[in-house]
Amino acid sequence: MSTFSLDPGADQLAVRDWLHGFAADVMRPAAAEWDEREETPWPVIQEAAKLGIYSLDFYAQQYFDPSGVGIPIAMEELFWGDAGIGLSIVGTTLAAVAVLANGTEEQIGTWAPQMFGTPEDVKVAAFCSSEPDAGSDVSALRTRAVYDEAKDEWVLNGTKTWATNGGIAAVHVVVAAVDPALGARGQASFVVPPGTPGLSQGQKFKKHGIRASHTAEVVLDGVRLPGHCLLGGKEKLDERLARAREGAKRTAGKGNAAMATFEASRPAVGAQAIGIARAAYEVALDYARTRVQFGRPIIDNQGVAFQLADMKTRIDAARLLVWRASWMAANNQPFTAAEGSMSKLYAGETAKWVTAQAMQILGGNGFTREYPVERMHRDSAIYSIFEGTSEIQRLVIARAISGMPIR
Ligand SMILES: Cc1cc2nc3c(=O)[nH]c(=O)nc-3n(C[C@H](O)[C@H](O)[C@H](O)COP(=O)(O)OP(=O)(O)OC[C@H]3O[C@@H](n4cnc5c(N)ncnc54)[C@H](O)[C@@H]3O)c2cc1C
Repeated sequence: MSTFSLDPGADQLAVRDWLHGFAADVMRPAAAEWDEREETPWPVIQEAAKLGIYSLDFYAQQYFDPSGVGIPIAMEELFWGDAGIGLSIVGTTLAAVAVLANGTEEQIGTWAPQMFGTPEDVKVAAFCSSEPDAGSDVSALRTRAVYDEAKDEWVLNGTKTWATNGGIAAVHVVVAAVDPALGARGQASFVVPPGTPGLSQGQKFKKHGIRASHTAEVVLDGVRLPGHCLLGGKEKLDERLARAREGAKRTAGKGNAAMATFEASRPAVGAQAIGIARAAYEVALDYARTRVQFGRPIIDNQGVAFQLADMKTRIDAARLLVWRASWMAANNQPFTAAEGSMSKLYAGETAKWVTAQAMQILGGNGFTREYPVERMHRDSAIYSIFEGTSEIQRLVIARAISGMPIR
């Protein structure tokens, strides 16, 4: 374990500058177009893949960077470029994290590369947990996985919703109930390989923000999967189910496939929100310096300058929380006060607040699509909703600090 440090190191700073170049030169100029088209920006993902920014290796390197802040630095830069395109580029990592968190070495080696494809033939992956009647309450999943012992196959039936890349993904990771009576502890994650019959895309959602990112329902109708598609394997699942049936004392994060994925990914999602906030803040700062009213730049008014001072302060505070949580995770420090949730909560709310202030500073221009803060404000709104709403983050933090079963 290294002492807590906020120094990312020279390698990490070089990666940051490299990603910043991609975000500024490739993502920013494409952002408005793909937002309007509301389609997955395949050419941009391909460009990222050619440069080595969209690959399993790249994210693994950031994840294992000894500074502990490789992932948040990468996320912040890409989402500074654009959040909709950014999510199209990194959406695959949520499914990849599910395989890394729950899969065996062999499963990781088989499925993780297929999620990204190759620069010539890029693919995306989807993580499908949420359902129409199971959003915040992940214990209420109705999608069933039934084991067919004679064939060593699992049969999946149900409907998933809100899946990023759902239906257009090569590989889908699906969380399903094996023993619904056990709630979240009776669930398991499955890999659905490319081209598996019975999996289809349902409705594609038209959204308020992050419109370049594809979000859709995924219908599972008699999907048959070979036994080896159960992440972690049958033996481990049987042991886990037996322990749950015996009523073994619940330990935070364990025994819940969906929660294991979310815990690991919350600081990274917080970093995405910071990228959006920083982008909007920079536009507002430039604008306030140059926009003249009453014969002087509007930043000459304390009211506007203080707004910018608060925006910058909150962005930096959010980043510190995200970096702390990422550093803790990288150094195997347990989140005793739900530090991961804390970072996502604060960063998400900061992005919404900062982008709203930025729109105000730009006046009428802030309200139009001629300037990017309108899009950034729409994009920021998702950060108090997905990967656990702000209310759910508060619930997790409140339970962690009190030890009480707060409802
Ligand atoms: C664009 C987008 C992309 C997404 N991508 C994915 C994905 O890739 N994979 C995936 O599995 N899911 C994904 N989601 C789903 C997302 O995680 C859920 O929308 C989220 O968890 C909230 O669930 P819900 O929408 O059903 O809201 P609900 O759970 O119905 O919540 C509605 C409101 O009630 C509040 N609430 C609920 N319970 C409580 C409580 N106990 N205490 C206080 N307040 C409470 C919530 O905070 C919220 O304000 C995505 C969603 C969107 C919109």
